[in-house]
Amino acid sequence: MPPWWPGEVKVFLGSPPGRRVSLPAAPEDTRAFHEALVGWFEAHQRELPWRVEAGEQEAYAVLVREVMLQQTRMETALPYLEAWLERWPTVEALAGASEDEVLDAWQGLGYYNRARWLANAARQVVDDHGGKIPRDPNELQALSGVGPYTAAAVASMAYGAPAPAVDGNVVRLVSRLQARRADAASEDAKARIRDELTPLLQQADDPGQTNEALMELGATVCTPRDPDCPGCPVASWCTAHRQGDPGGYPGEATRAKVHELDVVALWLERAGQVLVRRRPSDALLGGLWGLPMVELDGQEPSQVLEEELGLKVDVEPAPVGHVRHAFTHKRWTVAIHRAKGAGDAGEGASDEWAWVRLEDLEGLVSSTLDGKVWTKLCHSEA
Ligand code: SF4
Repeated sequence: MPPWWPGEVKVFLGSPPGRRVSLPAAPEDTRAFHEALVGWFEAHQRELPWRVEAGEQEAYAVLVREVMLQQTRMETALPYLEAWLERWPTVEALAGASEDEVLDAWQGLGYYNRARWLANAARQVVDDHGGKIPRDPNELQALSGVGPYTAAAVASMAYGAPAPAVDGNVVRLVSRLQARRADAASEDAKARIRDELTPLLQQADDPGQTNEALMELGATVCTPRDPDCPGCPVASWCTAHRQGDPGGYPGEATRAKVHELDVVALWLERAGQVLVRRRPSDALLGGLWGLPMVELDGQEPSQVLEEELGLKVDVEPAPVGHVRHAFTHKRWTVAIHRAKGAGDAGEGASDEWAWVRLEDLEGLVSSTLDGKVWTKLCHSEA
């Protein structure tokens, strides 16, 4: 069993049901573990832009980066991060950005609410904290869109607070060290691991670096499949390795059911222009422009378009094309249908509707899904 684990933590290591093993407190073992971890990190860490400079990182840059990296691959996020920080180099600059501007900068990253939350958080920092991002993880968590992970990342990397940043990689790593099953999607499991890791960070000179080292080890060595145990700096503390069963941990994550849904997208033209709609802020892909789209639940497209969007149209039965798109909890199969009617849609004061030339569609602030639809339209037109 890993001797560096703090004494008050009780873990169940395959003992008979009801018998729990209490690990003794051993600060010297905690130090040895930490040295092995950080020594490995300093020698093997990936070269990332924010690791070039030694010392604490700038809180605003950490906040943007960690929000951006949630559910986005590092390689995808890096150019966005660079462009974002160039466009809004300070929290005050971001606080002054419009919703259109932040959505425009976020195009292609997905999960567009994160862009809105980030801008809202910047306004909170300016209005309530005098433009200084708070140091306290609890105050950080009061900011829009900031959860325990992001708060801990900012507090530790920017301010040196001993707050464990527990992401899926860290859950897997700790679960294997302890040979204890954990659901990586469970907030309870993450909270427990945060408590257990706190002593490790408390004795670290640089808690931010320790957090990065744990995440890096989970991301590059203790990987979901085929962990590189022979190359692992903490293998001698690892119970799952000793038991010969790293793959048995952390166990199955609870997966939310993914719903398959049919969606109709309306292709309505008038004098060489296409009708587009800006989705309401609180809707899926809110604030972004796209063709009028509605989910079908076995109903006729014309009926749903009238009921949900107030469009009276005759929809051609055969679609001109299909586009598939996956969200976290649903997958859409979007059928694009030409239609007649609703020639007065977009008239009046509402800015929710617009008629746009086909060649101008790609200039709209829109999502990856809409980008696929624009491509389909231009291709069909040709
Ligand atoms: Fe993960 Fe293997 Fe290291 Fe254990 S020894 S922490 S299973 S890589």
